[in-house]
Amino acid sequence: MPKKKSLWTRETPCLVCETNMNNYQFMTKSQTVVVDEWMIPHTEAIGGYESFPDELKTTICPKCLTGSNEYSYGVDDYSRFYKSPTKNNQMKEYFERCADARFHLLADEFARFEKESATLDARGNRPKNTRTRATMEKIWQNRDQYGVPFFNLIFNEPRDLVTVLVLFSMDRFYQLLRICFNNDIEPSNWEYKTMQEAVDEKFSAEKLSMKSAEPRFWYLTQNFLQSNYYLDKLIADIYNDGEHPFADLKKEYMEQAYKNLQYCMDNDDLSAVPLETKDGGINLLMAKFHYMFENTEAGDKCLRFAKNYADNRMKRISSSNQQLFVNMTDDLYKEHFAQEAEGAEEGATTEKAG
Ligand SMILES: [Zn+2]
Repeated sequence: MPKKKSLWTRETPCLVCETNMNNYQFMTKSQTVVVDEWMIPHTEAIGGYESFPDELKTTICPKCLTGSNEYSYGVDDYSRFYKSPTKNNQMKEYFERCADARFHLLADEFARFEKESATLDARGNRPKNTRTRATMEKIWQNRDQYGVPFFNLIFNEPRDLVTVLVLFSMDRFYQLLRICFNNDIEPSNWEYKTMQEAVDEKFSAEKLSMKSAEPRFWYLTQNFLQSNYYLDKLIADIYNDGEHPFADLKKEYMEQAYKNLQYCMDNDDLSAVPLETKDGGINLLMAKFHYMFENTEAGDKCLRFAKNYADNRMKRISSSNQQLFVNMTDDLYKEHFAQEAEGAEEGATTEKAG
């Protein structure tokens, strides 16, 4: 029997310029969310449904290039940035003001993957050079005439891995701008790098307080981790896992994910963690990052917290994601506290024997 379709495309007006954009949803109850070893959620088909392509995560406007990875961005409950009309209009103005900066990021990111784009285009019989900087710039200069059909052609399904990676950078732009707006940060201009530096400057100096949670740091963490996941897929596809030019980019994605997760931890913000493992999950993830960047002491502290959570607060495991969390915590704990772990097991055996 053929599988049931799970992909559902909805047209929805851009929150900034009201041009129609495609939002890709999956049918209710057609997918389940499974996390991987970095706690990144992936959808997995249930029953007779097709898998939903996670590559379609970004909803992006073909006119002003405002784009977000948030699942229901632009639809239903998310048809405005803020409930307050004044705040909402201010936010729109922010986005209008920096359309050029979004375009620069888009063009830079496509340029970064120019060689890979060419390979994928040749394979998929796409017109050559569509995504080169020269073409992009020409289109942007004449965007009133050609912008919408051109960017629709580039962005709409099926998306290849280069497009996915480029669109993820547009989500990062979106999240950073909203962080600036929420926290009264005024960078000297709205280019991505300048915004990023201004945000870092503010939050490395003054930590967020519990009262002013900022879930967008978690969205950024996820974005960088997921970007690394897609970058690995691209490397496997184009370079057969052999030598590739992306070692520095992979490192940068991980450093950025680490930094943003630290901002989340600073204010105990777990509000956005879409996991059934909450504090435990985020501490396990943090521990993995600390170890990766050789911050052993901090890693041990987070890992002990995660282990305690797994042992004492997860008595009844009700999902495969929770089971995965417990297994990963136990494995990492054994690796880092070998002696203690052995001791505990011996203790448990004695208890049973008694
Ligand atoms: Zn727009």
